[in-house]
This record gives sequence, C-alpha cells and structure tokens, in this order.
Amino acid sequence: MSNIMIAGAGHGGLVAGAMLAKAGHNVTVYEKLAKKDLGHDWQDRFTFSLLAEELGIAESDFTEDIWEYRGDCAFVSPAKRKRVVINYSEENRQKIMWRKPLINMLIENAEKSGVKFRFETPVLAPITEGRAVKGVKTKEGSVFADLVIDAAGIFSPLRTNLPKHFLIENTPKYGDVFYAYRAYYNKTLNLTLEAPFEVYLRHEGEPGLSWFYTADQWVDILIGRTYPLTREKVNEQLMLFREDHPWFGDEILHGGQFGVIPVRRPLTLMVADGYAAIGDSAFMTTPMNGMGIDLSIEAGRLLADTVFHAESDRYTAEILWEYNRDFHMLFGADTAKNEGLKNALLTLPSYGVDFLFEQDVIQSSDLSGAGRNTNIAGLLGKLTRGMKRPPFFGAIINGLIHGSKAAKLYASPPLFYDLNKINDWNKRIRALDIAIDSQ
Ligand SMILES: Cc1cc2nc3c(=O)[nH]c(=O)nc-3n(C[C@H](O)[C@H](O)[C@H](O)COP(=O)(O)OP(=O)(O)OC[C@H]3O[C@@H](n4cnc5c(N)ncnc54)[C@H](O)[C@@H]3O)c2cc1C
Repeated sequence: MSNIMIAGAGHGGLVAGAMLAKAGHNVTVYEKLAKKDLGHDWQDRFTFSLLAEELGIAESDFTEDIWEYRGDCAFVSPAKRKRVVINYSEENRQKIMWRKPLINMLIENAEKSGVKFRFETPVLAPITEGRAVKGVKTKEGSVFADLVIDAAGIFSPLRTNLPKHFLIENTPKYGDVFYAYRAYYNKTLNLTLEAPFEVYLRHEGEPGLSWFYTADQWVDILIGRTYPLTREKVNEQLMLFREDHPWFGDEILHGGQFGVIPVRRPLTLMVADGYAAIGDSAFMTTPMNGMGIDLSIEAGRLLADTVFHAESDRYTAEILWEYNRDFHMLFGADTAKNEGLKNALLTLPSYGVDFLFEQDVIQSSDLSGAGRNTNIAGLLGKLTRGMKRPPFFGAIINGLIHGSKAAKLYASPPLFYDLNKINDWNKRIRALDIAIDSQ
C-alpha cells in the first residue's frame, strides 16, 4: 500500500484517486477550496457515457435537473456578415451538465472508494530532491508521499515551481491560455431562435471567441480572450452584446465568474520520480474548444493503470512514463493537431477570418468537430476559393501541416523513459510551434 497525495480536486485526480483507493492505496486529496465552493456555477459539455461508466451507473441515472440538451449552433464571422449553422441530429445533440453536481459525483465516488479529503488546505510548492518529488508544502506544513498527483489546474503551484532540471514546462506561453468570463442572465423576451447557440469568432475583432446562447430560461454568455480579462473589458463586451440582443437582461442568475482554460497541446513530459501531472495541470484539453473533462477522466484511468503495473511503491519516472507515453499515443496526437489549426487561426487578422468564412473555406463540417474534421485534403478542395487571398489560406494550410507533423511525433513518443531521447523528441515538437503575436 502506497501513500498517494493528490494536489487539487481536479477531475483526473479524482478519477485516479478513486481507482487507487479502491485497490487499497492510502490516498488523500488536498484542495484549496471548501467542499461547498467546488465546481463552477455553469453547465459544461462532455461525454456523459464516460462519466457514467466511471461512476458505475447508467447514463439514464443522471437526473433531469442536472443536465439538458443545448440548442443548434451558429458560428458567426468577426464582421457578423456570415453565419455557419450546425443543426444537430437526435444522436449528436450536445448535452450539457451543471459543473457542481458533476464534481460532487466524482468526490462522492472517491470518498466511497476510500479517498480522504483535506478541504481548505492549499498546496504551496513541491518538495524536491535531485530529480524527484518527495512531497508537498501545504498551508498546514509538509506532507511526504510515495506519489504526488498534480491535479491543481493550469497554474498549479507544483508544476510551476518544479526546478528547471526536471525538464517539465512550467509556464504556458501567449496563446496557450483562454481567459474566460461566464454568466447566465435573465431573458426579457420570451423568444426561441432557430440556432440559439451563437459562437462569435474573434468577437468584435478581439483575439478569442465569445458565445451568446439564448436558452429557454436565460441567456448564457461566455467571453473568452487570449489575455487576462478585466471587469471593464467584460462590461464593454456585454454592452456590445446588448446592442444585438435586446432580450438580454441585466440580472445575473448563475455564474458571473472568471475562469482559465489551457488551449494547447499537452505537456510532452508530465512525470518525474514521484510526480505525475494530470488534467489542466498537464494542459489536457482540445485546444479549439477548451474541452478538458473527457481527457481528464481518460488520463485518470491511464494513470491508475500505470500505478497498478508498478511492482513496488517507488514510482520512478521510468514507471510513470507508461502513463505519459500512453496518453500521448491515445489522445496527445489529436490535440497537437488541433492546436496547429487553432494557432493558425489566431495568427490571422479579423478580416482574414472573415475571408475564410465568406469564401466557404471554413464550413460547418470544420466547425462542428472543433477542427478535428479539417484536413489538408479537404482544404485543397477549397483551393480555388482560398487562393483569392493566398496568405490567409496559406496560414491555415501551414497550421494543418505543423499540426499534423506534431501529431505524428506525439503518436510516437520514446518507448522508454530516457531523458536524452525525450529531450530530443520535445525539441522536434517545439520546432513546430506556430508563433502568435500578442495583440
Ligand atoms: C468557462 C469555462 C468553461 C469550460 N467549459 C468546458 C466544457 O464545456 N467542457 C469541458 O470538457 N471542459 C470545459 N472547461 C475546461 C474544464 O474546466 C477543465 O479542462 C477540466 O475541469 C479539467 O481541469 P482539472 O480538473 O484538471 O482542473 P480544475 O478544474 O482547474 O481543478 C483544479 C482543482 O485544483 C484546485 N486547486 C488549485 N490550486 C490549488 C492549490 N494551490 N492547492 C490545492 N488545490 C488547488 C482548484 O480549486 C480545483 O478544485 C471549461 C473551463 C472554463 C473556465
């Protein structure tokens, strides 16, 4: 039986923790917030069947008060001249669930499996020795563990404070982080739109996107940018939304908070002796849409499986590399490819994105799969239209080429933990990064 400490009640950590505690390990989660404050006050899209399977229940067991279908979607070009509508079929309609019940279900499952929780106990920094993590400094003192699972989110104080010689990337760069504001407001008119979920790319010419979802009971607004948002900026953007949406009331019914999402490929190296990062702490999201719940759950399972394969309670980087490697082979490649397209779009000026919309270079098939359906062969079919403005079309092709090359590398990481090989592999991936100017 090993002592396993989980920093932060992140989704992946909770999944891994439940599996490990069930198998007899001594698992404790240190979470900075009080239990009642966990989980955002908004709804999220993810794969319900994955969560149900994890909890050992049927999808139909989710009660109707915690989830609903989201309406059809319209992507709106920056100049708002073109809308690309996605009508979902009965099978692929988007399901959204409130975050608080989701996180509570994961916590309850972890508790039932034997995981212990220390709420309102922030972790402050890792305790390291050589290239190993031995434990963690917390508000209440030092805690030592055989394995530290870092599920403390994008700005985890563990990952960001690991010494450089761990070769684990500490800080995301410009364009890697999506700063969001989300709130539900009252609706002053009882109207139903044909495509009520409007997603605005480069909304008002700004780097990022916003959405305005006219749901039955309220309007659900997200404002997301590549730079940290201020209250003034949010108010300015809300005013602009009010001009186009006269039914947008001013009473906040849910949310009204800021959040951050990593929108980049996952960490190439996410393990060290006694340490494994998971979820947002390891940047495990789909970059184009910021979805990270599914990937965190999947990663939690992979990490627990890796720990099960260990023959002793010495969780060396060599052993934990299996988790790191398998995550990349199964999921890292797709997200790396997706990052190429996302970054290519971010290099374009607003009128470049308008051009791609208006010439039908960006179509519903590209947008419905968050860019996963976009490929070079498909774009070549749009060559004639795209070549009217070669730089914009070229930027997207370039993003896809870089993304595809990065995906190939992610799909074939070194088989065994060998820092020289990992370093070389990492360098080849980083050479494919697309630079984005902060604007
Ligand atoms: C506005 C918004 C909308 C989103 N929508 C979706 C969506 O629809 N679908 C989807 O799949 N994903 C969505 N995401 C992304 C999703 O929230 C994350 O990818 C997902 O939660 C996985 O992150 P995580 O659990 O690893 O980290 P987090 O959710 O960030 O959890 C980290 C935990 O660690 C705790 N913590 C942080 N610092 C410390 C510390 N020092 N000590 C102890 N504990 C600490 C935090 O309190 C938190 O409980 C959205 C995110 C935002 C902000």
